[in-house]
Amino acid sequence: MKPFKGERVFTPGPVEIPDRIREVLGRQIIHHRTPEFTEAFLETRELFKRLVDCDSENFVFFSSSGTGAMEACVLNFFEEGDKVIAVVGGKFGERWAELGKHWRLKVIEHHVDWGKSVNPEDIEKLLKENPDCKGILIQMSESSTGAYHDVRAIAELTKDRDTLLVVDAITALGVYDMKPHSWGLDVVVGGSQKAFMLTPGLSMLWFSEKAKDKLTGRAYYFNVGNELKKQVEGQTAWTPAISLILALREALRILLETGMEGVENRYRTISRGMAKASESLGLRLLPENPSISLTTLLPPEGLSADEIRKAMLSEGVRVAGGQGKLKGKIFRISHMGMDVNDMVVALSVLERVLRAKGLKKESGVEAFLEEVSR
Ligand SMILES: *Cc1c(COP(=O)(O)O)cnc(C)c1O
Repeated sequence: MKPFKGERVFTPGPVEIPDRIREVLGRQIIHHRTPEFTEAFLETRELFKRLVDCDSENFVFFSSSGTGAMEACVLNFFEEGDKVIAVVGGKFGERWAELGKHWRLKVIEHHVDWGKSVNPEDIEKLLKENPDCKGILIQMSESSTGAYHDVRAIAELTKDRDTLLVVDAITALGVYDMKPHSWGLDVVVGGSQKAFMLTPGLSMLWFSEKAKDKLTGRAYYFNVGNELKKQVEGQTAWTPAISLILALREALRILLETGMEGVENRYRTISRGMAKASESLGLRLLPENPSISLTTLLPPEGLSADEIRKAMLSEGVRVAGGQGKLKGKIFRISHMGMDVNDMVVALSVLERVLRAKGLKKESGVEAFLEEVSR
């Protein structure tokens, strides 16, 4: 028998679920066409407004994983033949491009080396060359590489243009203190099993007034306009993921008790500490400008990323590998839902694994603790 109680999950989705949320998820179902549900739903909406620091009612919750809400963006805000720029710097950027092409948008793929962040000047140039560009599809935190894209800088370019800035913030919303309205973002997508620390199956889609004016009505199930009408009244067009809505309310309470500024600070501290620890362990970070949601590492010479993952798993810690062209080349340690003490667990296991292979340099745990207590 292994000397630990259960597997710890440090993957960038799904992430571990706090006890307070698990308690809600385990409750008996309530019916959704009831005043009880309506009250809970409206309270959830009020809390969500505080999360995004904006009084607008322009947001809906969908029963789907994050990709469902991404597809909803393409269908609800763009017509067939509309020209859009997709920033492709990883697996999820590829997904934007695929979704756009699937629904017959004219997609200009702007490729960025995997691990790099997009240069806003390149986007400015593309926008000048394509004045008819209707949208930019981008990730704020590209979870497949761990890179951060500066969506605020891009918003400066789109806010005075007839171009919607559509942000996949699935590993950013609930991590960063996002202010989509004042930053000038047009559409923001979040997902339950990432920073919201819930089970998979719920997505969130926030949009600006500028985006609202473009609603196409093309979608049936994922129809933002229909949903909005119902949801502001405390109901949903279809049967909602009832348990997940109630659990989202609890997740929002947890996040707002600390406040998003405090939550972001916690993740910033962890991210800084992880960078220091990696250096001490002789490991390189893949991204130049990392998202604070996860740490993406290249394996040391003489050991593969998958060997590290397997060895860590046998010590009770699950971390993620690479996707697409980074498969087998990197490993990713998520910070979402974690605190400093949790990260010590992951780091100490990583350190033990490297030591067993004769590859450990200085202590990662010590470097981490020194950095986070500064
Ligand atoms: C997880 C993730 C998605 C996809 O979400 P699913 O819930 O798997 O559909 C999209 N974008 C980013 C950045 C993600 O991290």
